[in-house]
Amino acid sequence: MSDLVSLSATALRAAVLQGEVSVREIVEAHLSRIAALDPRLHAYLGVDEAGARQRADALDAARRRREPAGPLFGVPVALKDNLCVRGWETTCGSRILEGFRPPYDATAVARLREAGAVFLGRTNLDEFAMGSSTENSAFGPTRNPWDLSRAPGGSSGGSAAAVAARLAAIALGSDTGGSIRQPAALCGVVGVKPTYGRVSRYGLVAFGSSLDQIGPLARTVEDAAVALSVLAGSDPHDSTSVADPVPDYAEALARGVEGLRFGLAREYLPPDLDPEVRGALERCVARLRAEGASVEEISLPHTPHAIPTYYLVATSEASSNLARYDGVKYGPREGGDRDLRTMYAATRGRGFGPEVKRRIFLGTFALSSGYVEAYYGRALRVRSLLRRDFDEAFRGVDLVLGPTSPFPAFRLGEKVDDPFQMYLCDVFTVTANLVGLPAVSVPAGFTSDRHAAPGLPIGLQVIGPPLAEAGCLRAAAAIERTCGVRGRAPALAPAG
Ligand code: GLN
Repeated sequence: MSDLVSLSATALRAAVLQGEVSVREIVEAHLSRIAALDPRLHAYLGVDEAGARQRADALDAARRRREPAGPLFGVPVALKDNLCVRGWETTCGSRILEGFRPPYDATAVARLREAGAVFLGRTNLDEFAMGSSTENSAFGPTRNPWDLSRAPGGSSGGSAAAVAARLAAIALGSDTGGSIRQPAALCGVVGVKPTYGRVSRYGLVAFGSSLDQIGPLARTVEDAAVALSVLAGSDPHDSTSVADPVPDYAEALARGVEGLRFGLAREYLPPDLDPEVRGALERCVARLRAEGASVEEISLPHTPHAIPTYYLVATSEASSNLARYDGVKYGPREGGDRDLRTMYAATRGRGFGPEVKRRIFLGTFALSSGYVEAYYGRALRVRSLLRRDFDEAFRGVDLVLGPTSPFPAFRLGEKVDDPFQMYLCDVFTVTANLVGLPAVSVPAGFTSDRHAAPGLPIGLQVIGPPLAEAGCLRAAAAIERTCGVRGRAPALAPAG
């Protein structure tokens, strides 16, 4: 079979089950593409060639024995390198965890494995998932497959780039303030941030514990839906996981959007929104209306406070979560021949990069005695107001539609020296995390010839009420179908 790397996960599985191709052939096609292209993209931090081949052969043998095949049977998957995989190194893009090999699998990883997935490798990320461009990785940035001079977004930039460049059919990411959706938008793939608690976070290295969620990135809404059905569900290892039954997310996709009510928040359409993003959104609104949906303007009045609120809550939680990296349990130890304090300071001073240190300082300050009420406490109160905005909105509409990112992919180096500019990448994504809502980013167009860089993907975001992943995905499937960008691939030549 030709072009195995371009087939969707569902198509790959079907081809294996019909005996048209072996899992080994699928894996070889992906491994050789990774070898040809990844030296330039740097989507992967590590590729487990031997493990992937062994697993492929085991699945092919299971097939010959006519054993039942899971929903991701034979599907090549990439994993963000902040998820624990037994025996693999898990670095979080940080020197401080270099060499750390977790003795267990994250629940999300275990579920994919049980569903028949083959793991190809671990993908690049901003250090500890802190960033919006993958440039904060201690191991060098990932490049956007649509334009190698541009960032893939972040922090799951490696996962988004790998899926977009056909170096994996599906990838896992984590989303604390947009890290699945924003890179998905900038790389032209689908990204799902589930409801807080929908997917177990056992084995995900914690960043902001009241915000973090794991979710899939895929080239089609259907693949993302199939993966989410595998990932979702309660887990005794994660007390924040919810017990509600998991629907078959793929089932609802064909239903269309007739009768669905969309809200377009005026706060998500600021005057400085990139005109190409605005254009894609307007075209999408017209198509949804033509399909029988209603789209009306709504207001989420506390939106302007979302970024400061997020950067207080996320940094506070990060400063607490990252206290455990002290050279005692994980990673390399520095200055261990002196006293304990010197060892801590040397290990953390050398192990963490500048953005992670900035976050620890900010968070420690926001939580410090005398300031905790003025900063962290106030942020929590604004968080309740943001929640109220959405409660109000969902009285009148089923879903909220808006841009995922205020602009298409930006140049590598363009924002990395100005943290505030980088933080503004997340204006439309952080609220779903603060409020715990599900959100899906779906490709909805490309920049036109009027743009400085034509042909860059544009993503739109659908946000739903708690546990309304099925509704978000159904809307995303309609956008995918009517905005007609499915199947378009970045033109990548192998490394010369
Ligand atoms: N870009 C945001 C940040 O740097 C979001 C990161 C994330 O979702 N992990 O905090």
